[in-house]
Amino acid sequence: MKKSLFLLFYIFTITLFSQNNYTYWQQYVNYKMDVDFDVKTFQYKGIQKLEYTNNSPDELDNVFYHLFYNAFQPGSEMDARLHTVPDPDERMVTNIGTKLNPKYESRITKLKPHETGYLNVISLKKNGENVSYLVEGTILKVSLNNAIKPGETVVFDMVFEGQLPVHIRRAGRNNEDNVAISMAQWYPKIAEYDFEGWHANPYIAREFHGVWGNFDVTLTIDKNYTVGGTGYLQNPQEIGHGYEDPSKKLQIKKGKTLTWHFVAPMVHDFSWAADPNYTHDILKTKFGTELHFLYKNDEKYKQAWKEVQPYTEKALNYFNENIGDYPYKQYSVIQAGDGGMEYAMCTFISGGETLNSIRGTVFHEFAHSWFQHILATNESKHSWMDEGFTSYISSLASNKIMRGIDNIPRGRNYAAYFYAVKNDLDEPLTTHADRFNTNAAFSIGSYTKGSMFLSQLNYIIGEENVKETIKKYYSDFKFKHPTPNDFKRVAEKVSGIQLDWYLNEWIETNHTIDYAVANVIDKTITLARVGKMPMPIDLEVVYTDETKESFYIPLRMMLGEKPTKATILKNWAWAFPTYTFNVSKEIKSVKIDPLGFMADIDTSNNIFEKL
Ligand SMILES: [Zn+2]
Repeated sequence: MKKSLFLLFYIFTITLFSQNNYTYWQQYVNYKMDVDFDVKTFQYKGIQKLEYTNNSPDELDNVFYHLFYNAFQPGSEMDARLHTVPDPDERMVTNIGTKLNPKYESRITKLKPHETGYLNVISLKKNGENVSYLVEGTILKVSLNNAIKPGETVVFDMVFEGQLPVHIRRAGRNNEDNVAISMAQWYPKIAEYDFEGWHANPYIAREFHGVWGNFDVTLTIDKNYTVGGTGYLQNPQEIGHGYEDPSKKLQIKKGKTLTWHFVAPMVHDFSWAADPNYTHDILKTKFGTELHFLYKNDEKYKQAWKEVQPYTEKALNYFNENIGDYPYKQYSVIQAGDGGMEYAMCTFISGGETLNSIRGTVFHEFAHSWFQHILATNESKHSWMDEGFTSYISSLASNKIMRGIDNIPRGRNYAAYFYAVKNDLDEPLTTHADRFNTNAAFSIGSYTKGSMFLSQLNYIIGEENVKETIKKYYSDFKFKHPTPNDFKRVAEKVSGIQLDWYLNEWIETNHTIDYAVANVIDKTITLARVGKMPMPIDLEVVYTDETKESFYIPLRMMLGEKPTKATILKNWAWAFPTYTFNVSKEIKSVKIDPLGFMADIDTSNNIFEKL
């Protein structure tokens, strides 16, 4: 390579790097949608005006949209996956074999044309000019005549039509609780473009990544239906259904339909549900947030759905205090799901015949408002960051609210992870959420192992540092798309401890932890790292005079120490498989990690007891 050419290349590379890696940017959208929904056919027609601002340093020749409902068609990728994954989601299949010898058939395969889902684009224009586009399953690829320049805002005008499928997963008609309409992933949604490029993932099962912006949605639907969802209702006096100000007069227009007008500021999704038989309760919290509860007007649900309301406020207070303030004025818990799923400013859950059957789900889904709908990680790529962090904080909230204790999940809460390791199911959490070998590996990895990332972080950097890390992570990255490294950097800055090794070993590999007390001779203790993954060591020694001493051995790669009252020993470098040190008195017993924070896969060798 010639020197001048090299120099040019060098300058180009520097510019590229500084653009892509050193300055954070995110795309921006303003959606305006007018939708007409037919409650008899479950079909709808929509007009979408999308203002799209390209804040990236790149010229965009193409844009991509998600057409999620195309997944609910026989022969789709989602359908095919249900036939090939060894442990399909039971909500999405029918067992045509026996209980002992199951044979699963995808429910999507059996959908008749009037039961499928679809999203069809009727026309699409960019800045008033027709553009060409191509549908590939659940993705719409749009080719632009003129690229969108960095900093430019363009307007896409789309006319579309859709059909809400039979409820297979997350959205659909007549769900298991017979809620008529659950509209999640229902509109043509532009894919996110970020520092990694386009995220035009097919919809196979999970999950989502969307562009931050504002939604303005008008929805015309049969006047008997009560609607709940994302956004603030702008015309409550024209609607009623529990949204109205009772001190003012209702102004409901004549006719068979009502037109609901919702506005949602700074969200990355918009979902709604509707039913002709919803009870709609509103709890005005002390914090100022209005909590809405929409559930079937049926005796069997009434008690639990009333009882869960004050607990939802307690959860709000807990999350506000321990993560950061909920930034919206409204949150809705809506009976519209198939389990629980988080959406912007709301959740769709199912059931609720007893308080115990929904309280945990409500805590979990509400926590997702922080870990997904405000801290908008890419769920497809880093599902452990939303599911794991949500599981962690919601179990902390449950422990505090229900039992009055501050208890960080550990030990027995790791059981699913140990099961995965034992059965060779565990896969690195860099795996795309749709492409784990089994659903079990996805679930255990994302929920359990993701939550354990934070539990063990308590062990590594100390409890107070983790609390502060979570709060700083929220304040630094709310309304953005944080990455695993962003979280790691916050923890490093807060604790002064280097954590690259931890993110790498725990998330990017499936290395396991196993430490052992190798031997104890007189007053000399030798420990061994049996597993591949290194960790710092907390150790408790009981002497023959019945006194106890706690020791702490930092991992050299940490280049720092957690705050501790234990006797701090010289660090242990990863490359050395053993570590030896002396104590001052006769030893009775030695125990590694006495509080059980470490996911040590074999704790039988963690203890030495002198006979
Ligand atoms: Zn979740």
